[in-house]
Amino acid sequence: MKLSLIVPCYNEEENIRPFHDAVVNAFRGENYDYEIVFVNDGSRDNTLGELKKLYSEVDTPLRILSFSRNFGKEAAMRAGLEHATGDLQCLIDADLQQRPEVVVQMVRRLDECPELDCVAAYQAQRSEDKKLSFFKERFYAMINDLSDVEFRQDASDFRTFRKPVADAVLSLNEYHRFSKGLLSWVGFNTEYMPYEVQQRAAGESKWSFTKLLQYAIDGIVSFSTMPLRLPTLLGASLCVVSLLMLLANILVFIAKPTAFSYDSLIIFLIVLLSGLQFLCIGILGKYLAQTFEQSKNRPHYLLKEVIEPKSKQEEKEEA
Ligand code: UDP
Ligand code: MG
Repeated sequence: MKLSLIVPCYNEEENIRPFHDAVVNAFRGENYDYEIVFVNDGSRDNTLGELKKLYSEVDTPLRILSFSRNFGKEAAMRAGLEHATGDLQCLIDADLQQRPEVVVQMVRRLDECPELDCVAAYQAQRSEDKKLSFFKERFYAMINDLSDVEFRQDASDFRTFRKPVADAVLSLNEYHRFSKGLLSWVGFNTEYMPYEVQQRAAGESKWSFTKLLQYAIDGIVSFSTMPLRLPTLLGASLCVVSLLMLLANILVFIAKPTAFSYDSLIIFLIVLLSGLQFLCIGILGKYLAQTFEQSKNRPHYLLKEVIEPKSKQEEKEEA
């Protein structure tokens, strides 16, 4: 069984060699065949130079893909999956926050259990600051409410899976990619394995708070059309409020005509018209949501196995 380690790299010059050495150490003595697929995501430092140097110095099977500019980690992971040749594929960061020893454990699990398709690591203990943890918790609560797909909060992209899972993820062709969601969407048997996140070996995280927020919004938009349905709710609520206002106006008109004011009638009309406008936007949203879903062109289903009827000949042979 061959494993491909897919490693997106953006400005990781100091981590290339230590990452390679850590992988070699972790797999030493293990009977697994592996390759490392480095994807240089348009680094501005000497990451590509370091990769080429490593390529010329070591015997480890390396594959190097280098982007023309920075396209983002999602694009790098996709490119890696497209070019990897292993029966098992592992998504792992270059900064050694995710230890290759955990990959060995994942591969062992997949080796032991043929019915398992994917082993995903989750952070047993979060080491990030409280503010970020709070926002992440809110994000996962929200996306789990809004979407049909289940998102596990502490799970990252750090996972090892079989080729059919990789093919399934690649069959989802959408441009704005949210891998954690795509990997949940495709299904398959996934086991979660706890792991401890290490400190970054060198360099700093590429994710600012705004970048993370943008990624979270991408996730929600990719996996839920609920935001497009919000105007319908708002419109319906405003229409109900306007009808209550009309009722109140009629009651005032009957009970005490002198207290009746045409101003309140105008307010009623404004609220009613706003409500109707929002309802119309909601209807447009409904069509847009369907067009959006269609434009993603996701497969209608994914087959994991097909058992064909036995042919007469085979039945005779078996008998
Ligand atoms: N990365 C990438 N392209 C980017 C940003 C990050 O390929 O535009 C890579 C980065 O080199 C690393 C991995 O994605 O291998 C995770 O990035 P980082 O460590 O900055 O994220 P964090 O661990 O802080 O979530
Ligand atoms: Mg990192």
